[in-house]
Formats: sequence, structure tokens, C-alpha cells
Amino acid sequence: MQDFCNSTDFEGGWDVLDTPEGLAGWLADHGHPAAAPLGQSDVERAITFREALRDACAVGAEDAGETRARGRAYLNEASRDLPLHVNLSEEGAALEPVADGLPGALAAMLGALAAGHADGTAARLKACEAHSCRWVFYDQSRNGSSRWCTMRLCGARSKNRAYRMRLRESSG
Ligand SMILES: [Zn+2]
Repeated sequence: MQDFCNSTDFEGGWDVLDTPEGLAGWLADHGHPAAAPLGQSDVERAITFREALRDACAVGAEDAGETRARGRAYLNEASRDLPLHVNLSEEGAALEPVADGLPGALAAMLGALAAGHADGTAARLKACEAHSCRWVFYDQSRNGSSRWCTMRLCGARSKNRAYRMRLRESSG
């Protein structure tokens, strides 16, 4: 799921999924090869779903709660068309996709997200607060309070910006 969200780089301006060929390649690489050729509507579906996942991981900003709610609402709606089944085993219960290709990949991500909510790890999946970044990262910090993908890059950048703003305010 993290891989899927990070298949684009807003800063670098590239997006692996923005062509049918790119999307097909990504799906094949991640165990969900598409049986039929993909089209532009599949590209749009994948990207809309990806950005809803990213929204569902929003943190930090004042409106992060609203962004998360918007992302979740989209995913809840999308899940109606994504076939998942319950696989019970000695290890526990897993939600697994029934379909192949793009629907299978999207369903698998919802299954993983549901599992993450069940064991509490979903709260640590976050979209970097830096607007230009929004990379989805797993917060490894002890108290789960990270807001940026890396303190060195995005955290420092954001702190510098706040510092410059303060300077401007105090001098103005
Ligand atoms: Zn970042």
C-alpha cells in the first residue's frame, strides 16, 4: 500500500501510474497482473484511489481530520465494488481479494488497511505533512508523533519556512 501511494513524486513530477502501460507494469510487479489490456479509465481509477488512500493518511495540518474523512468516504464507497473474502486460519483472519488485476490490487490494499486498523498499525501510516511531498511513510518513532517522511529533508524544510515566516512577521 505504501508502495502504491509512493508510485508518484509530486516534487519530482513523475507518476508511474499515469499511463495504462505504467499501471500494468506496476500491477504485474506487485502480484496483481491484469488479464486484459488496461485503458485510461483504469488509470483514473487507480490514481483516484491512490489519492484517497493518501488523504486517509493525512496528519498535521489543521484540516487533516477533514482530509482523512474525505479519503475514508471515498474508500468506503469504492469497497462496495471490490470483492474481498475472509480467509480464516490458525494464524487468524485475513481479508483477501477475489479478483485479479487492478480490482484485486485495490481490494488487497483495503484488506491490508483493515488489518492495520485491527492491530493499530494503520495510525502510523502517514502522508508527509509537507505539501510538496505528501510521501506516505510508516512512522517508526517511539511515540508515533512524526509528521514528516524524513526530519532531515521535509521536517527541516518546513521548520526553515516557519522560521523565515516568524522573521518576516517580527521585522514587519
Ligand atoms: Zn516528506
